[in-house]
Amino acid sequence: MKTPMKVAVTGAAGQIGYSLLFRIAAGDMLGEDQPIDLCMLERDNEASIKAARGVMMELDDCAFPLLNKVCSTSDPSECFRDADIAMLVGARPRTADMQRADLLAANAQIFVQQGRAINNVAKPDIKVLVVGNPCNTNAYIARKCAPNINPKNFTAMMRLDHNRTLTQVAQKINCKVTDIEGLCVWGNHGGTMFPDLTHSTVKGKPVMTMIDKTWYLSDLVPTVAGRGGAIIKARGHSSAASAANAAIDHIRSWIKGSNDQIVTMAVPSDGSYGIPEGLTFGFPVVCKDGDYEIVKGLEIDDFHKEFFAKNIKALEEEKAIVDEIIAKS
Ligand code: NDP
Repeated sequence: MKTPMKVAVTGAAGQIGYSLLFRIAAGDMLGEDQPIDLCMLERDNEASIKAARGVMMELDDCAFPLLNKVCSTSDPSECFRDADIAMLVGARPRTADMQRADLLAANAQIFVQQGRAINNVAKPDIKVLVVGNPCNTNAYIARKCAPNINPKNFTAMMRLDHNRTLTQVAQKINCKVTDIEGLCVWGNHGGTMFPDLTHSTVKGKPVMTMIDKTWYLSDLVPTVAGRGGAIIKARGHSSAASAANAAIDHIRSWIKGSNDQIVTMAVPSDGSYGIPEGLTFGFPVVCKDGDYEIVKGLEIDDFHKEFFAKNIKALEEEKAIVDEIIAKS
């Protein structure tokens, strides 16, 4: 039997957490031969602690063979101690009275604290996925507060945007999602993200020869960017099971490899494609041997550059706000 891996999950008693934990414990993320120690971080208030206790009781009641240990705490140091993987889902939701800067500030405090705790107590090669929004900038904050950890190991979730794009395209051209290769979503997980079909193929045939550009730009791009809002309208709650599924996909690809396929991860830019170094940006990556590499050498034209510029602007504005907060914290 393998040594258990410790997976730390924040916001575990929330909507996404409620889907995510059970799939991790069932082996969907790390495989059927990998025992897991699961530790949940909840806020230090009675309601959250009670909710987490309820989730722990349900995890017990599943009798998952792979679940070696479960714990719940409101102490980040306890949660992240010796963790192999951290899934940072918990974040402050935007309320009606909040400006964007207020939301950034509220979340910055959370990710400063969690980044520092990860830096001090986690395994040095911990892999971090930030789901809580604004996820790209939250991942940037946590990375900046964890100088002892390889910066590459702080990533944010754009796999949901990737998966959404896959299905929209598959439905449009009537193929299987698994037939589509080379697709990615560049940029920021927000209104400016750019689902890129220009390098994707279906059984070797370019997708761009199977769709028209009007559908692509006037339908697909806004549908993917607005999908979260459409789900809230339809369901009355934000996407949860699909977000949890994307988080599982993200970590599984990273740890177990993506079989030479391109997937989307938001990762610190190394300057590729003119994206300023250090911004957490959605890139096409290939995962192998527990690592990922940004795919290089894709042809980029003015059409891409226009979308990139919007995303760079959005992320640099957020970075300017949080850099001040990090400096003062
Ligand atoms: P919920 O509001 O249902 O859950 C959030 C959870 O986080 C709650 O349990 C909350 O606790 C907890 N929490 C808040 N602050 C902290 C903290 N400091 N430490 C630990 N836990 C904390 O939200 P969802 O599960 O629906 O969504 C979680 C996040 O994921 C949101 O930011 C959402 O925007 C984002 N998201 C990202 C997606 C992506 O593609 N990147 C897709 C979908 C969602 P309490 O109950 O005490 O407030």
